Amino acid sequence: MTQLTIGILDGDDIGHEIVPAAVAVVKAAAARHGLQIDWRPMPIGRTALDSHGTTMPEGTLETLATFDGFILGPIGHQAYPKGPGAINPHPILRKHFDLFANVRPTRSYPGIGCIYDDIDLVIVRENNEGFQPDRNVVMGSGEFRPNDDLTISVRVISRKGSRKVARAALDIARSRKKRLTLVHKNTVFKLGCGMFVESCYEAAKDYPDVTVDEVIVDTFAMRLVRDPQSFDTVVTTNMFGDILTDEAAGLVGGLGMAPGLCIGEGGLAMAQATHGSAPDIAGKDIANPYAMIESARMLIEHLGRARNLPHALDAARTMQAAIDKALAAPQTRTRDIRGTAGTRAMTEAIVSAIG
Ligand code: ATP
Ligand code: MG
Repeated sequence: MTQLTIGILDGDDIGHEIVPAAVAVVKAAAARHGLQIDWRPMPIGRTALDSHGTTMPEGTLETLATFDGFILGPIGHQAYPKGPGAINPHPILRKHFDLFANVRPTRSYPGIGCIYDDIDLVIVRENNEGFQPDRNVVMGSGEFRPNDDLTISVRVISRKGSRKVARAALDIARSRKKRLTLVHKNTVFKLGCGMFVESCYEAAKDYPDVTVDEVIVDTFAMRLVRDPQSFDTVVTTNMFGDILTDEAAGLVGGLGMAPGLCIGEGGLAMAQATHGSAPDIAGKDIANPYAMIESARMLIEHLGRARNLPHALDAARTMQAAIDKALAAPQTRTRDIRGTAGTRAMTEAIVSAIG
């Protein structure tokens, strides 16, 4: 009996290598624990543009809505030929499914070139509001040019959106060290960040077991480099989160080490690595599949909790152990993290460690 239905959306460039890698690893763990997954490949991005004349074929959203979750590879939309079908699917997916929280963990692994060997934190980035012009639900593009010499960028912060992302972060904090740090700049953005902070404290009233503190974003950027160990779970607005999660990735080996899971209020979730489609290294069997594989592992763990599926939680634990094992030896990790393996060899090592 099928327990989970999961979409496979390769995306572009290295997506065609790292998404199959993530699927292979989940398949191996699912087989080991008797977790029945119905896999549904769907065209998206450049491949879909070539075959269907649009990067997001008709019916994609309706079909995805019937799934428990999906794995989305990186999208290289900047390189699409100009035309009506060449849309960036990311913001549409995030908004349509109200995936308002982007959960981005940062974890050290020994020997791979981490700046510290004891980092273990999660940054929860608000996903659908803020400054990002492509995600601005309320203001459309959110950027205006009243005349040739002036541009106005609008930043949207709502109480509802802030409370929702705060609750997602508080749930994560509760499952970790029960500490949540709010990152903001309410000293300058008195109304926007002010509302974000107020809403977070309001949400935290329902979580008396979680200790909440706050750090101004510039101080946080500095402290993230100097003492990242002092943070556990962090919640912040969209653009601060965008920048800080890349900074955090830099501490633990670079973009190949930066996984992510986009979640909303229902169970449906989207596994999506933090990095882009890296066209410069595509097709060369050198991309680091970790971020994508770990994103898929997070998806399985999330669905295991949301759907109360012990087999899924077991599969996620098995994946974690196998990933840790592969990362521990240079022969089974990629070159960007001080290894010698290709994408495929690293994936095969993880699959065979699952047994
Ligand atoms: P985007 O605008 O989509 O965020 P970007 O311009 O930030 O994209 P990325 O595609 O994320 O660029 O990658 C920047 C560089 O980092 C790539 O060119 C590549 O060299 C490296 N990189 C990214 N992801 C990986 C990976 N999984 N493995 C190895 N190197 C990677
Ligand atoms: Mg980037």
